[in-house]
Order: sequence, then structure tokens, then C-alpha cells
Amino acid sequence: MNEKIWLSSPHMGGGEQKYVQEAFDTNWVAPLGPNVNGFEEDLKLYLKDDVFVAALSSGTAALHLALIILGVGPGDEVICQSMTFSASANPIAYLGATPVFIDSEKDTWNMCPKQLLIAIKDRIAKGKKPKAILPVHLYGMPAQMDQILAIANEYDIPVLEDAAEALGSYMDGQRCGTFGIMACLSFNGNKIITTSGGGALVAQAKAHTDKAVFLATQARDQAPHYQHSHIGYNYRMSNIVAGIGRGQMEVLDEHINNRRNNFAYYKEKLSDMDAISFLEEPKGYFSNRWLSCILVEPKDGITRETIRLALESENIESRPLWKPMHLQPIFETSPFYGDGTAELLFENGLCLPSGSNLTQEDLDRVIRIVRAVLQG
Ligand SMILES: *Cc1c(COP(=O)(O)O)cnc(C)c1O
Repeated sequence: MNEKIWLSSPHMGGGEQKYVQEAFDTNWVAPLGPNVNGFEEDLKLYLKDDVFVAALSSGTAALHLALIILGVGPGDEVICQSMTFSASANPIAYLGATPVFIDSEKDTWNMCPKQLLIAIKDRIAKGKKPKAILPVHLYGMPAQMDQILAIANEYDIPVLEDAAEALGSYMDGQRCGTFGIMACLSFNGNKIITTSGGGALVAQAKAHTDKAVFLATQARDQAPHYQHSHIGYNYRMSNIVAGIGRGQMEVLDEHINNRRNNFAYYKEKLSDMDAISFLEEPKGYFSNRWLSCILVEPKDGITRETIRLALESENIESRPLWKPMHLQPIFETSPFYGDGTAELLFENGLCLPSGSNLTQEDLDRVIRIVRAVLQG
């Protein structure tokens, strides 16, 4: 059997173990310590000097806390991009609120500003103003934040960015994760950098990261005994995990470069195939190209699924684009505003192996199979 090629696998830079060893040497084996502070500082400097960062146990935890801080509760509605990973929408459900799903547009595959506006007007007409807007920068491509923020400002609704896949991406020089009132990052095993599992909340206001850290550490009031006036969570990042994060920050830009090179190479070697198309960066947009995706126009019985199965039979992992949330059984009853764009992307889209540790031979193996399928 050929060696397995993964969709997106962890890629250590070499500096990680030094920070982890330091944690052991100084006995900071706890969910606080110098690595946690250092990792937060690294992220802050990378994103923009005037944001605040709280390192947490996952990106999902960051979204959950951000929604709590925005006051989302039972019966509320939160506007959410439909085409995304379920972790964007699940925290809305944790709080007893209802996600209102918005379709994608074709230029970035993210939240469609037109449908967003229609949805906000309609929800308000139906008697409920949405409590937050949750756009996602899928596969590293920034959403149309200028338009989304303009609408959000007009209706005075806070924007919570899901930047889990977009660390290092930017639009007109501004990094993803710094557009909204708050944002989540993820360092899960398959993301552009990984801590083995972890996440962060990014906020414009220090009060918000302070509140997040308070809630993430069991909401202990100031008192010598354990005193609680809020429900707390155990969501803080461990100092060991944060050590991995500090090492990964040293290679983040290299990872982005490698992933962008993967995309460029696939495009170079596959763009003569009429059935295949790629998502280009709109002017001023910079994607970290977390995953390299193609759209496959079905023709003569060959679909993206034909390609996926052919890759699978050669021990190569690829995956359809995210199945939109409005088509998921768990969110069957949630409202949706759209015109079928996300559904079409899901039907025709495929994520190709995209790790920053792929070799030229790996990429060539993928390309050879994709070409063979399309050439019959
Ligand atoms: C990975 C991911 C998350 C969740 O992050 P975790 O750290 O795995 O909890 C949320 N949203 C999107 C779009 C993601 O890709």
C-alpha cells in the first residue's frame, strides 16, 4: 500500500519541545504559567498590537464564551454562516439560542452580505433582532468583512468572527480575527498551527478577554474561599499545550508559505482541466490557503466523489467541502436565507491534501490521480 497522504496533518517546527521542557523544569504543569502568557503575547503581536488574547482549551470554547459575553441566551437568535464546520454553530445551541443560517457568496465562499441584509430585515420584522453575526473565513479565505461590518454597524449588531481556519490571512492589510468585536482561533491538530488541541479568544476590549479568562477558570469571585456568582467553565489552556503553541508561532509564516505553494502547484498542474476550477483571492485579500480546494463540474458521470474515491483507493485523504448547516439534521428547524450557493459548493467541492509538510512527490501523486480520473 502506498504511504498515507493526510488532508492536513500536524507539522512541528522543532522549537516546541524547548518550551514544553521549560514547563517541566519549572514545574508549571498547570492551566496557567509563562507559556500561556507568552503564547498570548505572541498571538497579540502577530495579529495587531492593540487586540487582546485569551488562550483557551479550544476554538469551540472561545466561541461559547464570546457568545455568553455578548449576552446570548435562551430564545435569542444568532446569525451564522451556513457553510462551515458544526463547531461554529454548536455554541449557539449550547446557550438555548437559535442559529439563523446565511448562504455563501461565490467570491469567497463565505457569508453573503446580500442574504445577511435580507435576513436581518426579516428577523426584525418578525419581532426578533439578532444578538450577533458570526461570519467564518473558510479554508483561510477572508469573508467580505467590509460589507458585513457595514451592515452590522447599520443595525448595531456585534460581529463575532470565526477565524479558526484563518490565522495569518488578511484583507487590505488587516488580519482575520481583528475585524469583529471578538474572534475565535483554533489550534486543533489539523489547523495551520496546532497545540494538539486548543484555541483562543481575540477581543478589541481587554474587559472581554478578562471576562473570558474569569469564566474559563470556573468563575471564582475575589474571596479566600470558593465563592461564585456566575456559572463557570474549565476552558483555560494548559501551560504544556501553550508551549507547543509558542514553538509553532516560530514557523507559522513558513506554514502559510508552504500551504500557499501547495495551492499554486495544484493550480499550475490542474488548471488545464476544464472541469476543475479554483477559488481566486479577490483584490486585497490574502488567504493562508489552509486547505486547497477545487470545484469539479460534473461531466460524463465524473464528479468530485469519483475523484475522492479514486484518491481514497490510493490511500490519499481528501474531503468534500463543509456540508452546510441548514442541511444538517441537527439544525433542520433553524431558519435559512439563501439561493443555493453553499449547497452547490458542497456538491461540487473537494479539499485536496494541504499540509505544510507535504512533499513534491506527495503533491505529484495527488495530481496524477486527479488527472487520470478526468482523462478517463
Ligand atoms: C476547527 C474549527 C472550529 C473549532 O475549533 P476547535 O479548536 O476544534 O474547537 C470552529 N470553527 C471552524 C470553522 C473550524 O474549522
